[in-house]
Amino acid sequence: MLVPSSKPASLVCVLLVLPLTLAALDEPRPMPVEALAPDLHVLRGGRDGNVLVLGDADGALLVDSLTPGREPELLATLGSLGIEPGDVRFVVDTHYHEDHVGANDELAAAGALLVAHDETRRLMTLADELPEMGWTITPAPEAALPTLTFADGLTLHVGEHVVRLVHLPAAHTGGDVLVQLADANVLHVGDVFELGAFPFVDLWHGGSFDGLLAALDTIAEMSDDATRIVPGHGPVSDRKTVRAEREVVARVLERAALAVADDLDFDTWLGSGPLDDVDPKWGTGRDAVRFAWLAYNDRVMARDAKASADDEGTGAGEDGARR
Ligand SMILES: [Zn+2]
Repeated sequence: MLVPSSKPASLVCVLLVLPLTLAALDEPRPMPVEALAPDLHVLRGGRDGNVLVLGDADGALLVDSLTPGREPELLATLGSLGIEPGDVRFVVDTHYHEDHVGANDELAAAGALLVAHDETRRLMTLADELPEMGWTITPAPEAALPTLTFADGLTLHVGEHVVRLVHLPAAHTGGDVLVQLADANVLHVGDVFELGAFPFVDLWHGGSFDGLLAALDTIAEMSDDATRIVPGHGPVSDRKTVRAEREVVARVLERAALAVADDLDFDTWLGSGPLDDVDPKWGTGRDAVRFAWLAYNDRVMARDAKASADDEGTGAGEDGARR
C-alpha cells in the first residue's frame, strides 16, 4: 500500500470542501475502455493503472483493480460491459502496490477469488516508511488479501480461455506476475513495464534491476510482433517498445555500475549526465532523477552483497535484505 506522505494535508483539503463537492465525488469519473476482442477489454485507469477484463456476465476475470477510492468508477465501467460484481470470478493482482489492488475487498465480497504471488500477499500485510520516496505504506485490510497464492506459476480457466500466470522474480517488486492470454495473444505485465515514465524498481520490497531486465526479456520471449502488451500504466504497447525500454534500462544500469566501481557519489555521477542521451519519452525531470537514483543504489547493493558473499564464502543476498 503506497500512500504519499502528503496525504494528511490532502485529506484536510477534501474535508474542507466536502459539502460543495459531495455530489461530484459520488459520480464515477469516465474511464476509457479499449476493446482487444469482443470479450476482452482494457480499462485505462491512468495513474491508477490498467485493468484487463476478460469475459462477460457468464464469468469474468480482472487483472488488477485500480486504487482505493475508484471502486465506483470500476464497477460502473464493468456494468457498461454487462458485467456485475457477482460475475467476477477471479481478480489477479500483478503486484502489491495499492494502485493495482484497490477494489480487491469489494470484489471479494461479491464472490471473486483474489489471486496473486505468495510474496504479494506477504507484502500487502506490511507497514513501512520510505523517507527516500516520501511514502508511508499501510497494510491492506484483511478482506483485500489474496486467498489463492502461488510461487512460480498458475493456470486459470475462464470459459474457453486459458489464463497463464507467470512469476517474474525480483523485478518491479518481489511478487510480480505476468498474465498471458495466449488465444488472444495478449499479455498484462503490470508495472514491470510502464509507459510515460521510467520504470520504478521497489528496492525495499524485493525489486531489482537485474530482475527487471530479466522480466523484460521474458516478456519479449513470450511475445511476437503482433502481441498486444498491456503495461501497468499507459497505452497498450508491443514487443518492439519493450525491447527499446530494455535497452535504455541496461545502458543506464551499466553506467551506474561503472560509477559505483569508481566510487563516485550519486550527485557527482548525476552531474556527469548519465541520462543525457536517453530519449525524453522514457521520462524527464524528477522522474529521471529517481530512476537514476534507483539504478545507482541497486548497483551499490549488488556490490555490497557480493562483498558480503565473498567474505562469508556463501551465496549473495541469501537473507533477502535489499536496503
Ligand atoms: Zn507498482
